[in-house]
Amino acid sequence: MRGRQLAGYLYECPQCGPWEIQRPIGTAESTAECPNCGAPGRRRYTAPLLSRTPRAVSMARGRTEASRDAPAVTTSVPPAAGRPSARDPRWNSLPRP
Ligand SMILES: [Zn+2]
Repeated sequence: MRGRQLAGYLYECPQCGPWEIQRPIGTAESTAECPNCGAPGRRRYTAPLLSRTPRAVSMARGRTEASRDAPAVTTSVPPAAGRPSARDPRWNSLPRP
């Protein structure tokens, strides 16, 4: 029998430092109450500390959930790298429509 798979999520209290909680995958909140002092701790988007989870999978999962809470929005067009900016002089010898 298989239950819901749990993952370890890392939070950090400004007073007490980091702690880890177990939650079903995808249900962790972006903040959690510190078990030591009760202050809200912010979630840290690092790879879960599960040795059974392949590193690439846990990294991708962390990126997905980080993107859901705080998407990295692109606000400008990236520079066109590697694209030739000058016309090829050989184009002048081509027939025009
Ligand atoms: Zn605390």
